[in-house]
Amino acid sequence: MTSREMGSESVKVVVRCRPLNDRERAFQSKVVLSMDLERCQCFIVKPGVVDEPPKQFTFDGTYFTDHTTEQMYNEIAYPLVEGVTEGYNGTIFAYGQTGSGKSFTMQGTAEPVCQKGVIPRAFEHVFETIQCAENTKFLVRASYLEIYNEEIRDLLGSETKSKLELKEHPERGVYARDLSMHTVHSVGECEAVLEQGWRNRAVAYTLMNKDSSRSHSIFTIHLEICSTDENGHSHLRAGKLNLVDLAGSERQSKTGATGERLREATKINLSLSALGNVISALVDGRSKYIPYRDSKLTRLLQDSLGGNTRTLMIACLSPADYNYEETLSTLRYANRAK
Ligand code: ADP
Repeated sequence: MTSREMGSESVKVVVRCRPLNDRERAFQSKVVLSMDLERCQCFIVKPGVVDEPPKQFTFDGTYFTDHTTEQMYNEIAYPLVEGVTEGYNGTIFAYGQTGSGKSFTMQGTAEPVCQKGVIPRAFEHVFETIQCAENTKFLVRASYLEIYNEEIRDLLGSETKSKLELKEHPERGVYARDLSMHTVHSVGECEAVLEQGWRNRAVAYTLMNKDSSRSHSIFTIHLEICSTDENGHSHLRAGKLNLVDLAGSERQSKTGATGERLREATKINLSLSALGNVISALVDGRSKYIPYRDSKLTRLLQDSLGGNTRTLMIACLSPADYNYEETLSTLRYANRAK
């Protein structure tokens, strides 16, 4: 067992370390990370420093190089998605520098099946629950948007380039106006919608000559659940699952960004630090003020972070020595969030 029970706590933070890749092995990169899976602890040693003890962090779950997404999903994502099918909101984030395994974790690979991503697993989970449910009808809709440079775009709308405005409604809360909703009846339809969004995103970035790893994307499954009790009364509930692929967390000092790229990086960091502040205020539990308003990302996710909702952050880590600073900064970010 690598993860503590999900329990009733609403925010969980786990770390996942990818293996060294071929290039890193060829260059004989050293591994700076290790884990105590029983205690859910992660250790990092500074490369080339022998007399300093490793820095130590504790999380709700630790997944090392040979763990599978299947194992991680069953241990920590399953209860969250199950809650969504019962009418709660939930959010799963992947955080980390570019190349640390965010897409691998969220989208995954078709083969081997055990490495199928969190997103397709969540689709299967939701539709299996629907098929098994008695006296309950479900309406499932999907939406897909991205935030780039603090601007919101619909990845599924007919006018994918136009910017969406954030609106606030007393009952509906904060939402992106004109965001398209797509009714889906099966895993296959859900996957098709996701792929369409991915394609639109890739095309737009090629046209703009920009890098999609600098945007945050949110795929949302909206459920309306109508159940009938033994007296024949109907009850309506709604649950929402947000699957969020965050922009790469690397700092601009490393990427050497200038001009427009630097402005973009500043905005990415703004959303990521706003998210960190919101999550750490939620985890702290004593803060009366949760700074949702500080970024578009946190405003949009306001009704799915905190309160009666569940949040899972998967911090993705590279084990290689040359990524030490970024990995340490991811560990610190994740540690603050828990
Ligand atoms: P990111 O989305 O954070 O930029 P990727 O998910 O694209 O990073 O991962 C970078 C590379 O590392 C990819 O080639 C991916 O297949 C590989 N990778 C990431 N995580 C794992 C893992 N847990 N096991 C095996 N390969 C992985």
